[in-house]
Amino acid sequence: MATIVQKFGGTSVGDTDKIKRVAQGIKQRMDEGHKVVTVVSAMGKSTDKLVELADEITEDPDPREMDMLLTTGEQVTISLVVMALKEIGVDAVSLTGWQAGIVTEEVYQDARITDIQTETLDQHLNEGKAVLVAGFQGVSEEGNITTLGRGGSDTTAVALAAALDAESCSIYTDVTGVYTSDPRYVKNARQLSSISYDEMLELAYLGAGVLHPRAVEFAKNYNVKLVVRSSMENVEGTIVEEEASMEQNLTVRGLAFDDNITKVTVERLPNHYDTMSNLFKLLSEEGINIDIIIQQMTSDHGINVSFTIDSSKLGKTMDLIHANRETLCYSEVHHESSLSKVSIVGSGMISNPGVAADMFKVLAEEEVAIKMVSTSEIAVSSVVPEKDMIRASEALHSFFGLDAQEQEKIELAKQA
Ligand code: ASP
Ligand code: MG
Repeated sequence: MATIVQKFGGTSVGDTDKIKRVAQGIKQRMDEGHKVVTVVSAMGKSTDKLVELADEITEDPDPREMDMLLTTGEQVTISLVVMALKEIGVDAVSLTGWQAGIVTEEVYQDARITDIQTETLDQHLNEGKAVLVAGFQGVSEEGNITTLGRGGSDTTAVALAAALDAESCSIYTDVTGVYTSDPRYVKNARQLSSISYDEMLELAYLGAGVLHPRAVEFAKNYNVKLVVRSSMENVEGTIVEEEASMEQNLTVRGLAFDDNITKVTVERLPNHYDTMSNLFKLLSEEGINIDIIIQQMTSDHGINVSFTIDSSKLGKTMDLIHANRETLCYSEVHHESSLSKVSIVGSGMISNPGVAADMFKVLAEEEVAIKMVSTSEIAVSSVVPEKDMIRASEALHSFFGLDAQEQEKIELAKQA
């Protein structure tokens, strides 16, 4: 009997009718002869509501207590799904992260899974029960409850699939699969039938919200067959796998964007071996994530350093840099907010020079200012003003042949 893991996101378990529907789906998979482990998120927007409650009490909630609070959302869902299963005659059991043996590092709000002890899970599965596991949570070796970062239920599901050697891991969500770009914003976005782990990983890191980046990392490392599909419509989803079939010979396979970016520039730092290390150690110690970094020599042999952060970290970043003015020894610090990052991704870029040049040409034609650029083997990102983000994305989406109509043209040409 093959084990399958499936995960339902917040909207898919948003009310009790949807929960009953999920229970029906689980029953069906079990009737087909599978051992079924189901991971669920908190109902609807309930995690956001819990965050708001904490905000009403303090500006700076204790991280341990925050995780204690946020993990309650998923617990509501697992128990309700099990009740719904019992109503339709299916034996089932709900497990919190720690009951399911999910061990993490002792980091709050963004813990990594270090081990999964599957004895309890195996036992319930062997007894023929449907197992419901609370997503997004685990327990540290020290016995504290942790969470895996917002959106982390995907990671719970993929990690369980790896640990249980499951046949597949299906992520049921409110979209029908992975798209070339976010269809809510880019109107010609089109669903992909498959995508490689590396491309999906880049897209997830660069802002595509459909999968948690760590989930994709896990899937790649443990070769878990990942399927993203709709919980409402019975249509084919997108398969994330090692070698995605090249359904079309496109260099660029997807486009992601991310807003709320601020660029900080520190001017005329001393040109010493330890300048960069001092500056970025300071920021990392305070948990400030840096994305793009650019360093430049000034004409008087100092160095200017620009880097991007999430705009929510601006206050903390500026305070830190100001407070360390003497040790860092810079002349000035300034910032530019309301920026965004638009990225194009595709494995075909490795062997195709000129993709960045094409991207810049499209942005130039659209008269979009490029503030910073970063590249990897299979991605190019441009930082542009937030107000131009969607317009730039649509222009790039269509230039690189990702638009739905373009695809139809290619298909027709092939048939002719
Ligand atoms: N409920 C958590 C969140 O909203 C985890 C998840 O849904 O994956 O971020
Ligand atoms: Mg999600």
